Amino acid sequence: MKTGWIYRDEYDWYDMGRSPGLIPPGRFVEPGEHLDQPSTRRRAASLVRASGLAEHLTPLPVTAAGDTELLRVHTRDYLDFLISQDALPKGGHADRGTWRTPFGPGGLEIARLSAGGVTAAARAVVEGAVSNAYALVRPPGHHALPDRGMALCVFANVAVAIKAVRHEYGVGRVAVIDWDVHHGNGTQEIFWDDPDVLTVSIHQDRLLQLSTGDVEEMGGPDALGACLNVPLPPGSGSQAYREALGRIVLPRVRDFAPELIVVASGYDASFFDPNGHMLLGVEDYRWMTQQVVDLAGDICQGRLVVAHEGGYSPWYVPYCMLAVVETLAGERTEVADPVAFIVEGNPFQALSADQARALDRVEAALNAAPPRRTL
Ligand SMILES: [Zn+2]
Repeated sequence: MKTGWIYRDEYDWYDMGRSPGLIPPGRFVEPGEHLDQPSTRRRAASLVRASGLAEHLTPLPVTAAGDTELLRVHTRDYLDFLISQDALPKGGHADRGTWRTPFGPGGLEIARLSAGGVTAAARAVVEGAVSNAYALVRPPGHHALPDRGMALCVFANVAVAIKAVRHEYGVGRVAVIDWDVHHGNGTQEIFWDDPDVLTVSIHQDRLLQLSTGDVEEMGGPDALGACLNVPLPPGSGSQAYREALGRIVLPRVRDFAPELIVVASGYDASFFDPNGHMLLGVEDYRWMTQQVVDLAGDICQGRLVVAHEGGYSPWYVPYCMLAVVETLAGERTEVADPVAFIVEGNPFQALSADQARALDRVEAALNAAPPRRTL
């Protein structure tokens, strides 16, 4: 089993500006470090090397996504807008008028490399050069819409990759499992009317400004059931995620019978994330990944691509990500979760009554409108 590995130094050079945390610039706001610190991914890549795991991975070359690849998802007008922003001496914004998607000078080429990174991973998996692959990319992609960036996302990296392998290799059905703490609204919207791409999102219910991601959103009229949302209450932990994935998501993915599975792996559902309010630890990420690896082995020759999305604890994300990559590679390094004693001993890791009700709501919606079989 070979596991492909995507990472480029330039991903850390993507400049989110000097807004501290998520606070927009303004009077009484001291400039500081943006929530999406470059050091998070650099530290994660460093741990992959320091742990020895890198020796078991197959580095894959990355080429920047070209216009042809991007325009399968995004509009020409949006691409032209980004070209104009890229030319500004201090950069601009990718979401047309708000401060939520900072776009630093030179950002366009790095965003192209990010979309190209996930695409390279998908191509290598579909070609059989590797069994599965991890793409440690930046900026993230799952909020990006066809005509604008959103919430730090410039290009819809996962969607661009899926469209590429479907177009180039005739891949049929694809399932996306998004466990970033935010709703994967961009991926959902892009494939809303496509019955051949199942988009699944497990997320914190209505986190930040996102109003999308409720259980009633199940796909367009010709793709009903090709969209599945599992909104969980803040404070959900180990057991809520295990029930959501094991009881609801994986059976639906198995039933969908995809030829390729793509995981949008954010780490902002981790215990120490400064943005999300969930409780996941290293062993939860390992468990979730193992379930998907096993399912992929059962139903699609192990074809699995994992794309890095959000995750804002510079010191905890690397351990969570390492567990995911270890699981893809079927390896176990000597690195253990250094704060497992805090995470795993937390009494709120059990399933609470409100979390159980949230899961029941998803199941009720599925039973009321059974997914249209696409077989
Ligand atoms: Zn997120």
